Amino acid sequence: APVRAPSRPSVQISAALRARAAAKLRFLRPIPRVNGWSRPLHIYQFASWADFLILAVTTFGIFIPFLHVDWQLSAYVVIGGLFLFHLVTNLIAATIDPAEANVRYKKNYLDLLPTFDRSKHEHVIQNQYCHLCEVTVSETAKHCSACNKCVTDFDHHCKWLNNCIGSRNYWFFFSSVTSASVGLVCVLAVQLYFFIRFLIDSHGLLKDAGLLVFQDSKMWPLFLPYFPVLVNTGVILFILVASVVLVIGNIIMIGHLLVFHLYLMSKRLSTFEYITQKRKKQQPKRKGGKKGSSLRMEEGAAQQ
Ligand SMILES: [Zn+2]
Ligand SMILES: [Zn+2]
Repeated sequence: APVRAPSRPSVQISAALRARAAAKLRFLRPIPRVNGWSRPLHIYQFASWADFLILAVTTFGIFIPFLHVDWQLSAYVVIGGLFLFHLVTNLIAATIDPAEANVRYKKNYLDLLPTFDRSKHEHVIQNQYCHLCEVTVSETAKHCSACNKCVTDFDHHCKWLNNCIGSRNYWFFFSSVTSASVGLVCVLAVQLYFFIRFLIDSHGLLKDAGLLVFQDSKMWPLFLPYFPVLVNTGVILFILVASVVLVIGNIIMIGHLLVFHLYLMSKRLSTFEYITQKRKKQQPKRKGGKKGSSLRMEEGAAQQ
Protein backbone atom coordinates (compact mmCIF):
# COMPACT_ATOMS: atom_id res chain seq x y z
CA ALA A 1 0.00 0.00 0.00
CA PRO A 2 2.70 2.65 0.80
CA VAL A 3 4.23 2.06 -2.67
CA ARG A 4 0.93 2.61 -4.52
CA ALA A 5 -0.11 5.64 -2.52
CA PRO A 6 1.67 8.34 -4.61
CA SER A 7 -0.07 7.32 -7.84
CA ARG A 8 -3.55 7.49 -6.31
CA PRO A 9 -4.15 11.27 -6.29
CA SER A 10 -3.40 11.60 -9.99
CA VAL A 11 -5.78 8.76 -10.81
CA GLN A 12 -8.46 10.46 -8.74
CA ILE A 13 -7.86 13.81 -10.42
CA SER A 14 -8.07 12.44 -13.91
CA ALA A 15 -11.25 10.53 -13.01
CA ALA A 16 -12.75 13.72 -11.62
CA LEU A 17 -11.72 15.64 -14.74
CA ARG A 18 -13.20 12.99 -16.98
CA ALA A 19 -16.46 13.06 -14.98
CA ARG A 20 -16.56 16.84 -15.25
CA ALA A 21 -15.92 16.74 -19.00
CA ALA A 22 -18.67 14.13 -19.41
CA ALA A 23 -21.07 16.27 -17.36
CA LYS A 24 -20.23 19.29 -19.53
CA LEU A 25 -20.91 17.27 -22.66
CA ARG A 26 -24.27 16.17 -21.24
CA PHE A 27 -25.19 19.82 -20.78
CA LEU A 28 -24.15 20.74 -24.29
CA ARG A 29 -26.08 17.90 -25.91
CA PRO A 30 -29.83 17.87 -25.49
CA ILE A 31 -31.15 15.57 -22.77
CA PRO A 32 -34.82 15.93 -21.83
CA ARG A 33 -35.42 17.76 -18.57
CA VAL A 34 -38.09 16.08 -16.42
CA ASN A 35 -39.44 19.12 -14.52
CA GLY A 36 -38.50 22.41 -12.85
CA TRP A 37 -36.01 20.66 -10.58
CA SER A 38 -33.95 19.16 -13.42
CA ARG A 39 -30.64 20.82 -14.07
CA PRO A 40 -29.77 23.38 -15.23
CA LEU A 41 -31.72 25.40 -12.65
CA HIS A 42 -32.63 28.92 -13.76
CA ILE A 43 -31.56 32.13 -11.98
CA TYR A 44 -35.21 33.31 -12.04
CA GLN A 45 -36.13 30.36 -9.78
CA PHE A 46 -33.77 31.60 -7.07
CA ALA A 47 -35.08 35.14 -7.54
CA SER A 48 -38.68 33.97 -7.04
CA TRP A 49 -37.80 31.97 -3.91
CA ALA A 50 -35.98 34.98 -2.43
CA ASP A 51 -38.94 37.20 -3.30
CA PHE A 52 -41.40 34.80 -1.62
CA LEU A 53 -39.22 34.52 1.50
CA ILE A 54 -38.73 38.30 1.87
CA LEU A 55 -42.48 38.92 1.49
CA ALA A 56 -43.38 36.17 3.98
CA VAL A 57 -40.91 37.41 6.63
CA THR A 58 -41.85 41.10 6.32
CA THR A 59 -45.61 40.47 6.13
CA PHE A 60 -46.00 37.94 8.97
CA GLY A 61 -43.01 38.99 11.06
CA ILE A 62 -43.14 42.77 10.78
CA PHE A 63 -46.40 44.25 9.47
CA ILE A 64 -49.34 42.04 10.54
CA PRO A 65 -48.47 42.40 14.28
CA PHE A 66 -49.17 46.15 13.90
CA LEU A 67 -52.71 45.66 12.62
CA HIS A 68 -55.59 46.39 14.99
CA VAL A 69 -55.81 43.54 17.56
CA ASP A 70 -59.24 42.57 16.22
CA TRP A 71 -57.90 42.12 12.65
CA GLN A 72 -54.69 40.26 13.38
CA LEU A 73 -56.10 36.73 13.54
CA SER A 74 -58.10 37.09 10.30
CA ALA A 75 -55.05 38.59 8.57
CA TYR A 76 -52.86 35.66 9.66
CA VAL A 77 -55.48 33.15 8.50
CA VAL A 78 -56.43 34.78 5.16
CA ILE A 79 -52.99 35.95 4.02
CA GLY A 80 -51.32 32.85 5.48
CA GLY A 81 -53.81 30.67 3.58
CA LEU A 82 -53.10 32.52 0.33
CA PHE A 83 -49.32 32.23 0.81
CA LEU A 84 -49.62 28.51 1.57
CA PHE A 85 -51.98 27.86 -1.37
CA HIS A 86 -49.62 29.76 -3.68
CA LEU A 87 -46.60 27.83 -2.41
CA VAL A 88 -48.28 24.43 -2.86
CA THR A 89 -49.69 25.11 -6.36
CA ASN A 90 -46.38 26.67 -7.42
CA LEU A 91 -44.41 23.62 -6.26
CA ILE A 92 -46.86 21.24 -7.96
CA ALA A 93 -46.69 23.22 -11.24
CA ALA A 94 -42.88 23.03 -11.12
CA THR A 95 -42.84 19.33 -10.22
CA ILE A 96 -45.35 17.90 -12.72
CA ASP A 97 -43.73 16.59 -15.86
CA PRO A 98 -45.80 18.22 -18.65
CA ALA A 99 -44.40 15.94 -21.38
CA GLU A 100 -46.49 13.93 -23.82
CA ALA A 101 -47.51 10.49 -22.50
CA ASN A 102 -45.54 8.80 -25.30
CA VAL A 103 -42.44 10.72 -24.23
CA ARG A 104 -42.90 9.97 -20.52
CA TYR A 105 -43.43 6.25 -21.09
CA LYS A 106 -40.51 5.96 -23.48
CA LYS A 107 -37.98 3.41 -22.25
CA ASN A 108 -34.96 5.60 -22.88
CA TYR A 109 -36.71 8.83 -21.84
CA LEU A 110 -33.63 10.55 -20.44
CA ASP A 111 -31.17 9.57 -23.15
CA LEU A 112 -29.48 11.97 -25.52
CA LEU A 113 -31.72 13.19 -28.31
CA PRO A 114 -30.68 13.00 -31.96
CA THR A 115 -29.58 16.30 -33.50
CA PHE A 116 -32.20 17.82 -35.76
CA ASP A 117 -31.16 17.72 -39.41
CA ARG A 118 -32.99 20.25 -41.57
CA SER A 119 -31.80 18.57 -44.76
CA LYS A 120 -33.66 15.39 -43.78
CA HIS A 121 -36.84 16.84 -42.26
CA GLU A 122 -38.44 20.21 -42.76
CA HIS A 123 -40.09 20.38 -39.34
CA VAL A 124 -39.30 18.98 -35.92
CA ILE A 125 -42.85 17.58 -35.74
CA GLN A 126 -44.28 16.21 -38.99
CA ASN A 127 -47.58 14.34 -39.27
CA GLN A 128 -47.71 14.24 -35.47
CA TYR A 129 -44.33 12.52 -35.28
CA CYS A 130 -41.49 14.26 -33.44
CA HIS A 131 -38.12 13.60 -35.07
CA LEU A 132 -36.31 14.54 -31.85
CA CYS A 133 -38.39 12.62 -29.28
CA GLU A 134 -38.90 9.87 -31.90
CA VAL A 135 -42.49 9.21 -30.84
CA THR A 136 -45.97 10.00 -32.13
CA VAL A 137 -47.35 13.10 -30.42
CA SER A 138 -50.78 14.70 -30.08
CA GLU A 139 -51.96 17.51 -32.35
CA THR A 140 -51.34 20.36 -29.87
CA ALA A 141 -47.95 19.13 -28.67
CA LYS A 142 -44.86 21.27 -29.20
CA HIS A 143 -41.23 20.35 -28.80
CA CYS A 144 -39.81 22.73 -26.18
CA SER A 145 -36.20 23.66 -26.90
CA ALA A 146 -35.50 24.49 -23.22
CA CYS A 147 -36.93 21.18 -21.92
CA ASN A 148 -35.84 19.13 -24.96
CA LYS A 149 -39.09 17.22 -25.16
CA CYS A 150 -42.62 17.38 -26.50
CA VAL A 151 -45.14 18.99 -24.15
CA THR A 152 -48.87 18.19 -24.22
CA ASP A 153 -51.01 21.25 -25.13
CA PHE A 154 -47.93 23.44 -24.93
CA ASP A 155 -48.70 26.87 -23.48
CA HIS A 156 -45.29 28.39 -22.74
CA HIS A 157 -41.97 27.66 -21.08
CA CYS A 158 -41.91 29.37 -17.68
CA LYS A 159 -38.46 30.51 -16.53
CA TRP A 160 -39.74 31.26 -13.00
CA LEU A 161 -40.82 27.64 -12.55
CA ASN A 162 -38.03 26.41 -14.85
CA ASN A 163 -40.66 24.11 -16.35
CA CYS A 164 -42.96 23.99 -19.34
CA ILE A 165 -46.62 24.82 -18.87
CA GLY A 166 -48.96 22.47 -20.73
CA SER A 167 -52.37 21.00 -20.00
CA ARG A 168 -50.97 18.70 -17.30
CA ASN A 169 -49.91 21.60 -15.05
CA TYR A 170 -51.78 24.61 -16.47
CA TRP A 171 -54.38 24.80 -13.69
CA PHE A 172 -51.73 24.61 -10.98
CA PHE A 173 -49.82 27.38 -12.77
CA PHE A 174 -52.99 29.48 -13.12
CA SER A 175 -54.01 28.90 -9.46
CA SER A 176 -50.55 29.91 -8.33
CA VAL A 177 -50.70 33.13 -10.39
CA THR A 178 -54.21 33.91 -9.11
CA SER A 179 -53.40 33.30 -5.44
CA ALA A 180 -50.21 35.34 -5.78
CA SER A 181 -52.16 38.28 -7.24
CA VAL A 182 -54.83 38.22 -4.50
CA GLY A 183 -52.21 37.68 -1.77
CA LEU A 184 -50.09 40.59 -3.03
CA VAL A 185 -53.04 42.98 -2.98
CA CYS A 186 -53.75 41.96 0.66
CA VAL A 187 -50.07 42.44 1.55
CA LEU A 188 -50.09 45.90 -0.05
CA ALA A 189 -53.20 46.85 1.96
CA VAL A 190 -51.48 45.81 5.22
CA GLN A 191 -48.33 47.74 4.27
CA LEU A 192 -50.25 50.89 3.33
CA TYR A 193 -52.25 50.76 6.58
CA PHE A 194 -48.98 50.59 8.51
CA PHE A 195 -47.34 53.28 6.33
CA ILE A 196 -50.12 55.84 6.75
CA ARG A 197 -50.64 55.34 10.49
CA PHE A 198 -46.89 55.16 11.14
CA LEU A 199 -46.45 58.59 9.51
CA ILE A 200 -49.47 60.42 10.95
CA ASP A 201 -50.33 58.66 14.22
CA SER A 202 -47.75 56.16 15.47
CA HIS A 203 -49.17 56.35 19.03
CA GLY A 204 -52.61 55.27 17.79
CA LEU A 205 -51.03 52.54 15.65
CA LEU A 206 -49.29 51.01 18.67
CA LYS A 207 -52.36 51.48 20.87
CA ASP A 208 -54.71 49.68 18.43
CA ALA A 209 -52.20 46.85 18.04
CA GLY A 210 -51.97 46.51 21.85
CA LEU A 211 -48.28 47.44 21.72
CA LEU A 212 -48.15 50.68 23.70
CA VAL A 213 -45.49 49.15 25.96
CA PHE A 214 -43.08 49.53 23.01
CA GLN A 215 -43.67 53.24 22.60
CA ASP A 216 -40.36 55.05 22.16
CA SER A 217 -39.78 57.94 19.79
CA LYS A 218 -36.54 56.51 18.38
CA MET A 219 -36.89 52.71 18.51
CA TRP A 220 -39.40 50.43 16.85
CA PRO A 221 -40.07 46.69 17.50
CA LEU A 222 -39.90 44.02 14.78
CA PHE A 223 -40.80 40.30 14.84
CA LEU A 224 -43.52 40.60 17.46
CA PRO A 225 -44.78 39.00 19.60
CA TYR A 226 -42.27 36.18 20.07
CA PHE A 227 -38.89 37.51 18.92
CA PRO A 228 -38.95 41.27 19.51
CA VAL A 229 -36.01 43.13 17.99
CA LEU A 230 -35.75 46.89 18.50
CA VAL A 231 -34.53 48.91 15.51
CA ASN A 232 -34.14 52.59 14.70
CA THR A 233 -37.14 54.37 13.21
CA GLY A 234 -35.03 54.92 10.06
CA VAL A 235 -34.56 51.15 9.66
CA ILE A 236 -38.29 50.38 9.83
CA LEU A 237 -38.96 53.19 7.35
CA PHE A 238 -36.37 51.75 4.95
CA ILE A 239 -37.85 48.22 5.28
CA LEU A 240 -41.32 49.64 4.70
CA VAL A 241 -40.44 51.63 1.56
CA ALA A 242 -38.37 48.75 0.12
CA SER A 243 -41.15 46.21 0.68
CA VAL A 244 -43.86 48.49 -0.74
CA VAL A 245 -41.73 48.95 -3.89
CA LEU A 246 -41.16 45.16 -4.08
CA VAL A 247 -44.87 44.39 -3.72
CA ILE A 248 -45.91 46.98 -6.31
CA GLY A 249 -43.33 45.55 -8.74
CA ASN A 250 -44.73 42.07 -8.06
CA ILE A 251 -48.31 43.23 -8.56
CA ILE A 252 -47.45 44.82 -11.91
CA MET A 253 -45.72 41.67 -13.20
CA ILE A 254 -48.01 38.97 -11.78
CA GLY A 255 -51.19 41.02 -12.24
CA HIS A 256 -50.25 41.52 -15.88
CA LEU A 257 -49.71 37.77 -16.25
CA LEU A 258 -53.11 37.05 -14.64
CA VAL A 259 -54.95 39.53 -16.89
CA PHE A 260 -53.17 38.10 -19.95
CA HIS A 261 -54.21 34.52 -19.08
CA LEU A 262 -57.80 35.61 -18.35
CA TYR A 263 -57.81 37.25 -21.79
CA LEU A 264 -56.40 34.07 -23.39
CA MET A 265 -59.10 31.98 -21.66
CA SER A 266 -61.83 34.28 -22.95
CA LYS A 267 -60.42 33.83 -26.48
CA ARG A 268 -59.79 30.10 -25.95
CA LEU A 269 -56.15 30.51 -26.94
CA SER A 270 -52.89 29.24 -25.48
CA THR A 271 -49.94 31.60 -25.02
CA PHE A 272 -48.23 29.79 -27.88
CA GLU A 273 -51.21 30.19 -30.25
CA TYR A 274 -51.46 33.88 -29.29
CA ILE A 275 -47.80 34.51 -30.13
CA THR A 276 -48.01 32.50 -33.37
CA GLN A 277 -51.10 34.43 -34.50
CA LYS A 278 -49.50 37.76 -33.62
CA ARG A 279 -46.37 36.92 -35.61
CA LYS A 280 -48.44 35.82 -38.60
CA LYS A 281 -50.29 39.14 -38.55
CA GLN A 282 -47.06 41.10 -38.24
CA GLN A 283 -45.31 39.47 -41.20
CA PRO A 284 -48.04 38.16 -43.51
CA LYS A 285 -46.10 38.09 -46.76
CA ARG A 286 -42.56 37.45 -45.68
CA LYS A 287 -42.19 33.85 -46.77
CA GLY A 288 -39.58 31.71 -45.12
CA GLY A 289 -38.34 34.39 -42.78
CA LYS A 290 -35.36 33.75 -40.60
CA LYS A 291 -34.81 30.04 -40.39
CA GLY A 292 -33.48 30.17 -36.87
CA SER A 293 -36.46 31.98 -35.47
CA SER A 294 -38.99 29.85 -37.33
CA LEU A 295 -37.31 26.71 -36.03
CA ARG A 296 -37.37 28.09 -32.50
CA MET A 297 -41.02 28.97 -32.92
CA GLU A 298 -41.77 25.50 -34.21
CA GLU A 299 -40.00 24.02 -31.25
CA GLY A 300 -42.19 26.08 -28.95
CA ALA A 301 -39.81 28.66 -27.61
CA ALA A 302 -42.57 30.87 -26.23
CA GLN A 303 -40.99 31.87 -22.94
CA GLN A 304 -42.18 33.94 -20.05
ZN1 LIG B 1 -40.36 16.28 -29.36
ZN1 LIG C 1 -40.00 23.92 -21.65
